[in-house]
Amino acid sequence: MSPAPLIPVARPWLGEEEASAARRPILSGWVTQGPEVAAFEAEFAAYVGAPHACAVSNCTTALHLALRAVGVGPGDEVITVSHSFIATANAVRYCGAVPVFVDIDPATFNMDPARVEEVIGPRTRAILCVHQIGMPCDLAALVPMARRHHLALVEDAACAVGSAILWEGRWEPIGKPHGDVACFSFHPRKLLTTGDGGMITTANPEWDAKFRLWRQHSMGVPDLVRHSADRVIFEEYGELGYNYRMTDIQAAVGREQLKRLPALLARRREQVERYRLLLADIPGLVLPTEPAWARSNWQSFCVRLPDGCDQRQVMEALLAAGIATRRGVMCAHREPAYEREPWSCGLGPGPCGCPARTCRRLRQSEQAQDRTILLPLYHELSEADQERIALALRAALAGQDPL
Ligand SMILES: *Cc1c(COP(=O)(O)O)cnc(C)c1O
Repeated sequence: MSPAPLIPVARPWLGEEEASAARRPILSGWVTQGPEVAAFEAEFAAYVGAPHACAVSNCTTALHLALRAVGVGPGDEVITVSHSFIATANAVRYCGAVPVFVDIDPATFNMDPARVEEVIGPRTRAILCVHQIGMPCDLAALVPMARRHHLALVEDAACAVGSAILWEGRWEPIGKPHGDVACFSFHPRKLLTTGDGGMITTANPEWDAKFRLWRQHSMGVPDLVRHSADRVIFEEYGELGYNYRMTDIQAAVGREQLKRLPALLARRREQVERYRLLLADIPGLVLPTEPAWARSNWQSFCVRLPDGCDQRQVMEALLAAGIATRRGVMCAHREPAYEREPWSCGLGPGPCGCPARTCRRLRQSEQAQDRTILLPLYHELSEADQERIALALRAALAGQDPL
């Protein structure tokens, strides 16, 4: 018998609809930022209930523009988490500011609001919270805290399209936004994909106008206007800008992806319930928790291994059984890049005295990275696949040959 095919950890849900949508801009002659981008922005804004949505090249550039718009600059500090994809911390560095990392709540893998207030100082300019792997972070605590201290609140919602939060008694999509600006990713590892891509939502029309300028080199006259003018227009470049555009090909794909979101979310919820049933009785295995006020889009299913387990061995046993997994979310402060880039854990400027690539104040973050794994979760993952995964994990944890 041939071995069962490898179950990947993630896989985008794309089909004929996206392929034929991409034909439109390709055959129209207008392939970069244009009418498809404008339509995608309007549809995305309507979905999340945001007054403004501006499409950009990816979520990393979205975060850069968001932080710049709220006034983050050289010498400032931005309170965020190390326990995130490295782009979160990097976006702070692009502004010349220093990330101040606070620890996470081990139950939700999200920023612990109790840790935030104690590191607010005279140079703090913004809080950059993350809805990690789609789980909404505690905005009900963070929004008033940011207001109280006159800080901007930027939401890294890279993974959180379709997630929702109970807000003043009503379920509201992440991205409304509840903070000042929210940034989304359409990388294939997230629920919706345009290959690469990003979206910035805000209720502030001045910031939205800035995003539109900056994403296109700060060109005073958008090319859509220039191309449709009946007279010659010379453009101007008022300030330093970037090329952070989304293409119309990507946006055409994104519009189809957005239509799939309700089905994606419903299926994810079923799959997560099935994982809970299949894994509930494994001793010591901790399944993800969803606070009563949060609804995750379940971008990933992250389990904490029983104490004393060797993360690598478990992952290798699963791989030998044809199942790809990933270790839990990384910690930026443990990467070589952040041996050189400045960061702080809030104990004043400069190193806190911990050895390189570790920090005793970021213990929960480090433990989450070392003791959790992400199990496969994607739209086309079948019930039989999930059963196979559960059996293999059970066997791997029992130290048996998982075949
Ligand atoms: C994926 C991700 C990003 C970066 O998104 P890109 O679109 O790939 O730039 C940023 N933050 C978090 C939390 C992410 O998961």
